[in-house]
Amino acid sequence: MSEDYHQMWSDLGLNLEAHDALLEGLAQAYREIFLTQEHRPKGMQYFDFVMSEIHGLRVKELLDARENGRKVVGSFCVFVPEEIILAADGISVGLCTGAEFGFAEAEQLLPRNTCSLIKSAFGFKLSGVCPYLEACDMVVGENTCDGKKKAYEMFAPLVRNLFVMDMPQMKTESGRALLKTEYERFLDAMEKLSGKTITSEKLRESTDIVNKKRRAMHRLSKLRAVNPTSISGLDALLINQVFFYDDPARFTDSVNKLCNELEQRVEQKPGVVPHTSPRILISGCPMAVPNWKIPAIVQNANAVIVGEESCVGERGTRNETETDGNNLNALLDNIVDRYFKIYCAIFTPNQSRLEHIKEMVSTYKADGVIHYALQFCQPYQMEAGQIENKLESEGIPVLRIETDYSQEDAGQIRTRVEAFIERITA
Ligand code: SF4
Ligand code: SF4
Repeated sequence: MSEDYHQMWSDLGLNLEAHDALLEGLAQAYREIFLTQEHRPKGMQYFDFVMSEIHGLRVKELLDARENGRKVVGSFCVFVPEEIILAADGISVGLCTGAEFGFAEAEQLLPRNTCSLIKSAFGFKLSGVCPYLEACDMVVGENTCDGKKKAYEMFAPLVRNLFVMDMPQMKTESGRALLKTEYERFLDAMEKLSGKTITSEKLRESTDIVNKKRRAMHRLSKLRAVNPTSISGLDALLINQVFFYDDPARFTDSVNKLCNELEQRVEQKPGVVPHTSPRILISGCPMAVPNWKIPAIVQNANAVIVGEESCVGERGTRNETETDGNNLNALLDNIVDRYFKIYCAIFTPNQSRLEHIKEMVSTYKADGVIHYALQFCQPYQMEAGQIENKLESEGIPVLRIETDYSQEDAGQIRTRVEAFIERITA
């Protein structure tokens, strides 16, 4: 880290001892998993820097922005529209929830059979190790799965200002109407929080900023479709993770610069791995920082991940928000239309997810799909079997993995992944 940030962390009320332990573990994992990779693009240096400053410089930027009157809004889900936050001059940060930390404290409040993602949100709060959460003026929850919906009841007294949005469960007209009502309510809440009026000009501008960020990710995805691939699955996942908390314009610029470099690599060949490397699509629950367990295992098995059908991946970044429309209501409709296409497993039926997985397999020339579901995540576990049966019946090999954030099952998963790679290369 470029500076000693202990005073800043202490002012935020963090538990310094626990926080130091978290950062040490994170830095070690990053060194071992990311910095040992060969043939990395130079453009990854920016993302290495972001990770080295994960609880330092970016948090300081947020606090400086707050000093200047901007509001910081934390979220746990890709259904929270960044367009609306930016239009109120706010800053959107995704709250990580990707590490097994403070689970003993979390289990004092939550049932043990709660998914790691929810436990991690509570664990980070209860053990006082997340500077992002402490820097938030508002945290947005969403009634997606039952686990989250009930967990927010217990989360509300723990954080400064929790705003909970209701979510539809079906892609019907009334479902869309509910999402619109909730986005209107969120827009009002953002105006109140910021003391600023969201005009159509501001909403169009903010939509443009978020679209540019998405467009850069689409460019990256296209490059990953070329064989041999020019970037590792781990590095691409990392970029998808940084997407949630970096400054949007700087992030877009960095991804575009990286893509310029990757375009040259694509022309010149060879890629980051041999063209014969098995190509894997990951599909399932989101992988937040620092959840790198399965991608690291896949990469060590000499396969390459070429796409993520995940909210930290293409499910979260696909589709732009239209910017046509000359009033606030029309622009908000565009936002609703864009987000209503997200096919989270909380929706029923959820055929578009299967269709998109198949489309991704074909676009990225994947040889097989690894379906990743967190233990106790009913929505994704329920869909896993249907997806496996359907894809296998169409000749697409699938490996289903259910896991959590611990490393205890890493050896067993490694054996299963290696056997799967053998199967698809035989
Ligand atoms: S999987 Fe569903 S609940 Fe989780 S981030 Fe994605 S949309 Fe939100
Ligand atoms: S991983 Fe599953 S159970 Fe956990 S919060 Fe997401 S949808 Fe809910």
